Amino acid sequence: MGLLRWAVPAVLLLASSAAAIAQIAPSSDGTLRRIRVPILMYHYISEPPAYADVYRIDLSVSPALFREHLAYLRDAGYMSIRLEDLYAALQTGAALPQKPVVLTFDDGYEDNYTNAYPLLREIGFTGTFFVMTSGPDGGSPDYMTPAQIAEMAAGGMQMESHSRDHPDLRGRDGDFLVYQLLGAQESLAAWSGRVPYQFAYPAGQYDDAVLAMLRSLQVQTAVTTRQGALHTSDAPLELARLRIRNTTDVPTLAALLESNS
Ligand SMILES: [Zn+2]
Repeated sequence: MGLLRWAVPAVLLLASSAAAIAQIAPSSDGTLRRIRVPILMYHYISEPPAYADVYRIDLSVSPALFREHLAYLRDAGYMSIRLEDLYAALQTGAALPQKPVVLTFDDGYEDNYTNAYPLLREIGFTGTFFVMTSGPDGGSPDYMTPAQIAEMAAGGMQMESHSRDHPDLRGRDGDFLVYQLLGAQESLAAWSGRVPYQFAYPAGQYDDAVLAMLRSLQVQTAVTTRQGALHTSDAPLELARLRIRNTTDVPTLAALLESNS
């Protein structure tokens, strides 16, 4: 069954805390399920600075527009869920709200704390933040600090892993993957008090060795940059998302949410 398939190397098991073991979700009941849940992919929640290039602008949603997105979601009857809720629904048939949505934020930028977190709190939504842990570790002002990560975790946000350094994870050996994946998991566990079991692939890139390493770390879900909202119980480590851009106004968001992908 699922637990046996996910054989855990002893060295990794030793590295996990007792709290980590206690959090492991139920394994699959063997039923193949297909569930449509939009997983929105945000990056910066701020006005792009004057020096911003086209990529930075494309990845930036202003706080005013983000507030409009949240108001639309609330008024349309959406309820935010965690990726572990989606995992439980896929693997065991656990119930979800009628209109679930997952809000994800990649990279761990400082504006996620300053701008996204207060707006999410105001509306009563949770967000899933994929942190590149070398950001907080390095003390750069562009990234959330360990103290901010701790505060957000205590405030009901999901602080999850986006690797240590955001490398291309393809074609790497085991030591490299342990450093990038277990390393980030341990840093986040130390900061947030909770082991992260959800993952976002840096630039959406992965291979079979990455998938195997995530399974050995008992990661439940991993999100890609593939566009879509349909998820199947046999591929929880390859979830599609809906990309939110600088130009994603409310009508565009509504169309994305209702598209049949
Ligand atoms: Zn990223």
